Amino acid sequence: MKHIQVVTVALLVVGLFWSAPDGQASREELMADRGQIKVYSLATGEYILSEKVVKTEQEWRQLLTPKQYHILREQGTERAFTGGTWDNKEYGIYRCAGCGLDLYHSSTKYKSGTGWPSFYQPVAEENVSIREDRSFFTVRNELVCSRCGGHLGHVFADGPQPTGKRHCINAASLVFVKLDR
Ligand SMILES: [Zn+2]
Repeated sequence: MKHIQVVTVALLVVGLFWSAPDGQASREELMADRGQIKVYSLATGEYILSEKVVKTEQEWRQLLTPKQYHILREQGTERAFTGGTWDNKEYGIYRCAGCGLDLYHSSTKYKSGTGWPSFYQPVAEENVSIREDRSFFTVRNELVCSRCGGHLGHVFADGPQPTGKRHCINAASLVFVKLDR
């Protein structure tokens, strides 16, 4: 009997410290990330409270194309001049390909010559968050969607006025929605 008790205790201890396999957030971790954030909605023209979008890596894989998954969830970068909207001049909204949040308006898009969609500002500072990125032996400011945490691109200080910022974004991170003027 004693032996069985020891085995039971051992299993319980293993259970307590068992963490989900790599790349798979546990239910507790996901719940801790949930919460409401204030974001700007172009459709309503005002700030709204929105639930953060939290999914497991497996759910993201099902939702996104392999290219979108690589860029949004693995901080990938598409080759310059290959993204669908790098040269798009139509009037409309660029939304997050992961969660649909409004990120950029075409009126702030400009020709940067880089081969990636470039904007001098997001629809609101709240919608796009900045994170320090120390990959590739340099420090850059990574841009992520505030609602789902998807990787968008990077921000640099060589953009045009009025902000002087260049939001260099992967076209695969965005979905363009054409609007009537
Ligand atoms: Zn998003």
